[in-house]
Amino acid sequence: MSIQISGLRPLQMSIRGNIHYHRGMKIAAAFLLFLLLSSSALSQEHSFGDWVAQLRVEAASLGISAATLEALDDLEEPLPRVLELDSSQPEFVQTFTRYLGLRVTDRQVERGQQLLRQHRALLEEVRQRHGVQPQYLVAFWAIETNFGSNTGGFSVLQALATLAYDPRRAEFFRSQMLTALQIIDDGHISAQNMSGSWAGAMGQLQFMPSVFSLHAVDGDGDGKIDIWNSLPDVFNSAANFLSKSGWKGDERWGREVLLPSDFNFALAGTNSRKSLQQWRDIGLLQTSGAPIPVADMQASVVIPAGAQGPAFLAYDNFRVTRVYNPPIFYALTVGHLADRFAGGPPIQHMPENEQAMSIAQVKELQELLNALDFDSGEPDGRVGSRTRSAIRAYQEQQDLPMDSYASISLLEALRR
Ligand code: CA
Repeated sequence: MSIQISGLRPLQMSIRGNIHYHRGMKIAAAFLLFLLLSSSALSQEHSFGDWVAQLRVEAASLGISAATLEALDDLEEPLPRVLELDSSQPEFVQTFTRYLGLRVTDRQVERGQQLLRQHRALLEEVRQRHGVQPQYLVAFWAIETNFGSNTGGFSVLQALATLAYDPRRAEFFRSQMLTALQIIDDGHISAQNMSGSWAGAMGQLQFMPSVFSLHAVDGDGDGKIDIWNSLPDVFNSAANFLSKSGWKGDERWGREVLLPSDFNFALAGTNSRKSLQQWRDIGLLQTSGAPIPVADMQASVVIPAGAQGPAFLAYDNFRVTRVYNPPIFYALTVGHLADRFAGGPPIQHMPENEQAMSIAQVKELQELLNALDFDSGEPDGRVGSRTRSAIRAYQEQQDLPMDSYASISLLEALRR
């Protein structure tokens, strides 16, 4: 995965459940020991070699062949680089301006348009089969791996073993590891060629093994699912995943809109849904100034950069995009990039000179809110729902637009 952290994708997680075992019973035989201890309890209490040996027993009991399990002989000690990437903390809060700016450039738009033309026949065939429009597939492809050019250089087995041996999310990654072995055992790819991100996301559209096992399909009919090298397999798999998650091939993702000057920001956010007619009645306009088109659809207003930034009306396909990867910025960027590939304009109302807040500044903001009795919880430098509620209550008291948005100007107001 190019930039975002697939290891933290909650909705791609926990698809293949691990069996839970009871702790604490003393048994001599290794096989019974494995049956009676929870898999996560085994992490770190044993050497990595012992852990691999127990994983091998479990994989064999699931029917994975001895030939496939030979790949476990090549595992090295946990990779420090993977653990470092997994626990890295940002210094600044990500802004929509920066997030979008890194992913949507003129060059990237041109490249996407060129690839859309180049693969038109295949992408149309995929649209016929799964009902996902070509420009969206190419947008996911762009953001996930820069059109397949950056699929991550890690051995998936080595990365998953590292994260599964680490106690923090051992169970999830152990389950992914077993599924990865099953994929190899099914003959789709060799262990040596199963490459991916540091978090184990694989191929040109960065599927976790559990997502591969549920949704990847053989697009070119050669009997193997090769999401590393076969574009028919890559596009059909992604489209199948989106389609099964509820994608609607005759709808857009959403659109940029203009909010009325008296807009009540309490209506914004993905938990608040209204019909297009209701939004039109509230006074939302297209960026051209025309009324928003009305169809029998529900939508939410999303404001990724506060009241000063752009506003979007997000439809059902926006919600499906978040099944692929949950962050709001991600889903907005996929949708916008798809629009650009189809010839649409840049976002009209990006904030100018939006400054990123440092984690320290967010902590200060939280402390100042707390001191004024707007409860933002323990200051932790993260803008969560409690902090947003506290900001909103403060904005209400100060008669400011209640966009719940943490910004430097808000911090400066609080300092005064
Ligand atoms: Ca194939």
